[in-house]
Amino acid sequence: MSIKENWNTVLKKVKNAAEKSGRTLDDITVIAVTKTRTPGEINEVISAGAANIGENKPQEVRDKFGAVAPNVKWHLIGHLQTNKIKYIIDKVCLIHSVDSVHLMDEIDKQAKKHGLVMPILIQVNISGEETKQGVSADELPVLLEHAGELSGIRVEGLMTIMPKTDVNITNSLHFDNIRQLFVDISCKKYDNVTMKHLSMGMSGDYEDAILHGATMVRVGTAIFGERDYSKAEK
Ligand SMILES: *Cc1c(COP(=O)(O)O)cnc(C)c1O
Repeated sequence: MSIKENWNTVLKKVKNAAEKSGRTLDDITVIAVTKTRTPGEINEVISAGAANIGENKPQEVRDKFGAVAPNVKWHLIGHLQTNKIKYIIDKVCLIHSVDSVHLMDEIDKQAKKHGLVMPILIQVNISGEETKQGVSADELPVLLEHAGELSGIRVEGLMTIMPKTDVNITNSLHFDNIRQLFVDISCKKYDNVTMKHLSMGMSGDYEDAILHGATMVRVGTAIFGERDYSKAEK
C-alpha cells in the first residue's frame, strides 16, 4: 500500500468514527506522525492531502522543517526539554506535551522573545502508568491555574497517550476519564484556558478515541508502515 492509499484509508475510518459520534470529518484533526520519516515521505503524505504533521523530537522538526512543503502545520507531540524549545518555538502551531509549570514558564519566555503566543496542550497521564510522561488528574489544576499568569502561552486542551495493552476495555475507561476531565475543566473557566482540543488516539486506537470524543488523532504507523529506528536521527 502506498502512503497515499494508507492516508485515504485512515481518513475514511476517521470520517466513519466522527459520524458515529455525531460529528463530521472536519471536526477531527488528523496529524500525520512523521518521526523517523524522510522529507520525501512527508511530502508524499502532504500531496495526499495531509495538512498537519507531528514530530516527537524537536530536532526532527528543526531539521525537516525547511525541506518539506510549506503551508502545513507542525505539531510537537513528544517530550520537550527546555533547552530545545528554541528549535521549534517559531515553527510549530501547537505543543501537545506540556507537563510541568517549569516547561510552561520556559515556553512562555521563548514565545515572548519571538513576539508570539504559543498554544499548548497539557499532557495527562490518565492511566497512572509509571513510565508515561504527563501529569496526574490531581496535579492538573496547578498547571491550569498557572496558565492565567502567562501571556506567551495559551492552554487549548489536553493530550494523552494510552498504555500499550490489548485489554481495550481498560483503554475505553481511560478515554472516558480524560473526556470527563476535559468537560469538567471547560465548565470551570480557568483564565487563559480553553478546552478546544482533545488529542488522543494513535494507529491502534484512533477510531476508538474519536468515538470517545477525541478532536485530534496522531497517526504514524497506519500511514507510513512500521518505523525503522536505526534510521532515526540522534
Ligand atoms: C509515535 C507517536 C504517535 C504515533 O504512533 P503510531 O502508533 O505510529 O500511530 C502518536 N503520538 C505520539 C506522542 C508519538 O510519539
